[in-house]
Amino acid sequence: MKFDAILEYQRVDQELINLENEATSSKEIAALYSAKKTLDTATGTIGKLSQEASEILANQAKIQEKITALKAKLDEFDGIVDGIEAVSEADYYLKQIDAIVSEIVALEKESSKDMSRVDGITNEYKKTWEAGIKASDGYKQAKLAYDKYMASMQPKALEIKARLNELRKDVPDPIFNAYKTLRDGKKLPAFVEYDAEKKVCGRCRMDVPNDTAGKLRQSGDYAECPNCRRILYMP
Ligand SMILES: [Zn+2]
Repeated sequence: MKFDAILEYQRVDQELINLENEATSSKEIAALYSAKKTLDTATGTIGKLSQEASEILANQAKIQEKITALKAKLDEFDGIVDGIEAVSEADYYLKQIDAIVSEIVALEKESSKDMSRVDGITNEYKKTWEAGIKASDGYKQAKLAYDKYMASMQPKALEIKARLNELRKDVPDPIFNAYKTLRDGKKLPAFVEYDAEKKVCGRCRMDVPNDTAGKLRQSGDYAECPNCRRILYMP
């Protein structure tokens, strides 16, 4: 029969696809993805913590600068108040001094709050670093297991591919190209027997319109199903 070669090719090709699906849904691949995710999370956290710490330390430098400037300003008042006799004038200076002192106190409070956050970051960093080392080991192991699993699949895959290469020789190019297009679009099986009696597609079971049915009259005829786009053939 005209379609024997492509049908056999399609059958063997399905074995290859099943093997690939088996690998995709294997526990080894799932373990590898999960180990990778754990590692990425640890790496991401380490990056964020470093970033936060360097921002705080940069801000810390600014705060200390401000405090130094305010203290210098405070020094300028030294002796001024003592030499003043009028209460209202003294009061004016004291209020200014008070304002500067409050500002310094607020800045020091901010600074100490920031520094305790830096301590917190240091602790988190240590923990995350340890978790990261574990995650990295976990990933390496998962990768080894995955590679081993893939290597164990290899002989079977190669054997199927060799059979496909042999079968390919018997399939005419136009038929093979049509098959390839459908396979690439994940529409398998690509070649489906036409149900001439019911005038329906053997795959999607939809009624085949007259113009398509007109192309499927005798053995060896083939046409595309307008609904599922697979190739209907007449055995
Ligand atoms: Zn169809």
